[in-house]
Amino acid sequence: SVSVALFTSDLRVRDNPVLRAALDCAYEVVPLFVLDTGISAAGFDVPNRRAFLMDCLNGLDRELRRRGGRLVLRTGDVAAVACETAAECGARQVHVAGGVSGYSQRREVRLRRLLEADGRELYVHDAVVTAQPPGRLTPQSRDHFAVFTPYFRRWSAERLRPVLGTPRSVRVPGNVRSEPVPSRADVKGVSPGVAAGGESEGRARFDAWRKKSMGEYAERADDLAGDATSRLSPHLHFGTLSAVELVHRARKTGGEGAEAFVRQLAWRDFHHQVLAARPRASWEDYRPRGDSWRHDEREITAWRDGRTGYPLVDAAMRQLLHEGWMHNRARLLTASFLTKTLYTDWRVGARHFLDLLVDGDIVNNQLNWQWVAGTGNDTRPNRVLNPLTQARRFDPRGEYVRRWLPELAAVEGPAVHRPWTLPERERARLDYPPPLVDLSQGADRFLRARGR
Ligand code: FAD
Repeated sequence: SVSVALFTSDLRVRDNPVLRAALDCAYEVVPLFVLDTGISAAGFDVPNRRAFLMDCLNGLDRELRRRGGRLVLRTGDVAAVACETAAECGARQVHVAGGVSGYSQRREVRLRRLLEADGRELYVHDAVVTAQPPGRLTPQSRDHFAVFTPYFRRWSAERLRPVLGTPRSVRVPGNVRSEPVPSRADVKGVSPGVAAGGESEGRARFDAWRKKSMGEYAERADDLAGDATSRLSPHLHFGTLSAVELVHRARKTGGEGAEAFVRQLAWRDFHHQVLAARPRASWEDYRPRGDSWRHDEREITAWRDGRTGYPLVDAAMRQLLHEGWMHNRARLLTASFLTKTLYTDWRVGARHFLDLLVDGDIVNNQLNWQWVAGTGNDTRPNRVLNPLTQARRFDPRGEYVRRWLPELAAVEGPAVHRPWTLPERERARLDYPPPLVDLSQGADRFLRARGR
């Protein structure tokens, strides 16, 4: 007998319920990944993520070959291709991870319909992408939690599924056709500093971070120059690491840092359960506030290019352009600056982030943008982050700014955060713009618009 393991956001062999179930129910398995033309048509197949994805697919192929198998790669409409592949090799069952976005929910419905019309079955597996399945934990009177703290209380008390055994061998039918797996070198337009992907890379990164930095994560996570966070988000996005396994391993390590890390993984689950219940919140306000956003192309371009004249905002935007990744504190600040100080629609910023982020994710990106814009689940929707206060707290020596803004690298002391205070002659020598807006005027405009 043959089954198909359809990989989506779970590009790993370890602790993968989809692969495990496909192996357990049949003698041979087709480990299938489809380069989905639906995702390209929707504009989500961007160079930074595609480059990382190619690493992940090559890594998955290597892991499968080590076990006697190989990856089967095809291009096309994912539901149609999965169905055709199952028909070609006579597979009775297709296994896939449950997804929460509107796109993945529609994909699942189509896949089920096509397979059932052909006399085949679809099995959708939980706790593959997240630690707790979205929809499992609900408050008494609603279909999802709208506030994180009560969600986290329930989440922490809930049993986690155990880590699954790693498959030793994978038998793939000999005659299944596969396209060659492209390499990241085939992808054009990739940011220069995009990290390497793949399961072994993800595991090595987690092991190194756990030894070196997890212990101090609780105190240092917000230190912009310190780089104390795990940088595992692209691996979690593509599923080269299992969230369930990370929670188990962090809990085993123990301590405040591990607890703080587990809490962040619960944030990820929280957003998944919100979007599963409200898939339209990917582009529509979760809580409409009646905003009449401004749209000033010059300001938006300055924000995108990291030329707003506020060094901390600009350093963060340059990090995004260079690495396809940005520190969480910097994401909070740049998003607050765009949506509140410039009072620009969060969708403009979310789109730009999705164009560049290697971890760019319809769940975490859109709902975090909504959180910052005050149209989402923040219980203090009108707070405005001030880049100068944030600079004092999270980049007190200006190291982060000097690292990402070469034009300010030679500015000494606290003036690096306020270049407009430098003597006129010195300032004129810097190729750096004056502030785009007055911070308090921007914040007042936003608060007035929100009726505060
Ligand atoms: P760590 O601090 O090491 O945290 C560990 C893991 O927890 C992360 O890898 C991530 O998977 C999860 N996590 C941490 N914070 C959050 C959070 N607030 N929401 C959801 N999960 C979280 N994260 C994405 O994965 N994809 C996105 O597209 C994305 N867009 C964002 C946009 C904005 C405006 C903001 C404010 C945040 C966004 N985040 C997004 C959340 C967060 O910034 C990143 O997950 C984090 O910076 C990744 O770095 P790390 O792996 O070092 O995180």
